[in-house]
Amino acid sequence: MTDISYDCDVLVVGLGPVGAVMAALLGDLGRSVLAIEPQHEVYPLPRAAHVDHEVMRIFQALGVIDAVLPHMRVAPDYEFLASNGKPLIHFQRDGLNGTGGWPVSYNVYQPGIERAVRTRLDALDGVTVELGSRFDALVEHDDAGVVVRIDGEHGPRTVRARYLAACDGARSPVREALGIGLDDLDFDEPWLVLDAWVPDESGFPESNIQFCDPERPTSFVHMGPNRLRWEFMLRADEDPQAMLHPENLETLLKPWRAKGELNVERTAVYQFHGLIADQWRKGSVLLVGDSAHQTPPFLGQGLCSGLRDAVNLAWKLDAVLAGADQALLDSYMREREPHCRFLITKAIEMGRVVCTFDRERAAARDAEMLANPLVSGPFILPALVGAMRHGDAMAGLPFPQATDPREGRLDDVLGAGAWLLHTGQSEAVAAMPGLRVVDVRRDLPPALGTAAAKTIAATGAEAVLVRPDRYVFGSGNAAELVRAWADLVSTAKVPA
Ligand SMILES: Cc1cc2nc3c(=O)[nH]c(=O)nc-3n(C[C@H](O)[C@H](O)[C@H](O)COP(=O)(O)OP(=O)(O)OC[C@H]3O[C@@H](n4cnc5c(N)ncnc54)[C@H](O)[C@@H]3O)c2cc1C
Repeated sequence: MTDISYDCDVLVVGLGPVGAVMAALLGDLGRSVLAIEPQHEVYPLPRAAHVDHEVMRIFQALGVIDAVLPHMRVAPDYEFLASNGKPLIHFQRDGLNGTGGWPVSYNVYQPGIERAVRTRLDALDGVTVELGSRFDALVEHDDAGVVVRIDGEHGPRTVRARYLAACDGARSPVREALGIGLDDLDFDEPWLVLDAWVPDESGFPESNIQFCDPERPTSFVHMGPNRLRWEFMLRADEDPQAMLHPENLETLLKPWRAKGELNVERTAVYQFHGLIADQWRKGSVLLVGDSAHQTPPFLGQGLCSGLRDAVNLAWKLDAVLAGADQALLDSYMREREPHCRFLITKAIEMGRVVCTFDRERAAARDAEMLANPLVSGPFILPALVGAMRHGDAMAGLPFPQATDPREGRLDDVLGAGAWLLHTGQSEAVAAMPGLRVVDVRRDLPPALGTAAAKTIAATGAEAVLVRPDRYVFGSGNAAELVRAWADLVSTAKVPA
């Protein structure tokens, strides 16, 4: 770029849930953000119904927990049932707590959550939200910044930004403009999704269920209070639009009507895909959320992955805007892509269990799986590999958030930024801007301090350095950790 003056630090394109969280995280860090979105209201059709404990930790960090909780409920167990109603797979969820410091799973009503995050944006001085405007074209882009033409209700104009976060969803016009391809993980199934408001849920199943019935594979999922979802797989010869006609919906719902009153609120037909973009960063443009990856919903993880992208990228953008080497941004895809690929692959595996209209295949599946049904907790996600000290105990894993009914939650007590947590035996280490040095036994309330000390002790090291996204940078000698961290956030040198 020839003219290096910017209208904002980051242009966020798309204000779906990922764009809204991206803008809020950057706004919280004091960055100037312009977020553009063509639609005035949040997406009206059925989408995410589940988030996990890590996402709850992100909502907590954004200060929106009280606003989102009314649109959620702790998720019940999740079952895959054979045609005869016997369990093929049973995921335990109810009553389990995650490392994020919240119950492992919540069922959610997505529009309520999106509105809560958008309200948070209103309170952030550095964030300007422009509804009615859309990304039109990339005029110029390189490592120095982007020039973008935007258009819409406010007329066409050019915006210059230091970075662009493309949170513009599965069809991503920004990804298209960059000519970035998609790796197709070979899953493409049509499903009709129907959300209903239910005054009394007591007649309906308590669990979330995949009915692996070759007559009509069907998902039944709770959302927020008094809201339930059904998903019906469509046959190749069924016309999706015709299936949305009220009489066809009634045929699908007939077996459920007897269980209680249900009022259909919204319906849609989707192709469920497994796709990953080949490149997540081109110069100053970064793909975030569904623009970078699309996950079939059988594990309820597409949005969770997008929000993990946002929290992974926000502190890195903040660091490079403060002068760190831009190479730090390359760790974004390096860390996030394998994580997403793992979850998409698992979701496709689960989808393949459900998605068949073939009676013989279903019978063979039932015979094989009923002989050895899977009972499992939530999947253990792989450790990140990228901007951390590889080889250190816990590096690349989330640092667990301790909670206590009287003392509260660890993240609230320690606040934003990176933490060097140690157990008192470390020699004095110099703090640096953005890094809080904490003797967990001395500086934390007793229960939280004991829990943090236990986690540190389990690494066998004297100290643990936790990144701002709450993933562990490394464990070991405190002074060495601080030096390596300072190196990373100034020169982007990834420690060996
Ligand atoms: C039926 C179904 C069930 C699902 N269930 C779950 C679940 O339980 N849990 C889970 O984690 N995930 C789930 N997902 C996935 C989840 O809904 C998505 O991953 C998530 O909504 C993606 O958010 P996003 O912000 O990246 O994209 P989107 O929500 O698609 O937002 C993109 C935004 O970009 C805007 N935009 C588009 N073009 C432009 C432009 N030119 N300029 C500016 N803005 C633009 C759009 O208007 C939109 O607001 C489900 C998906 C489906 C379809």
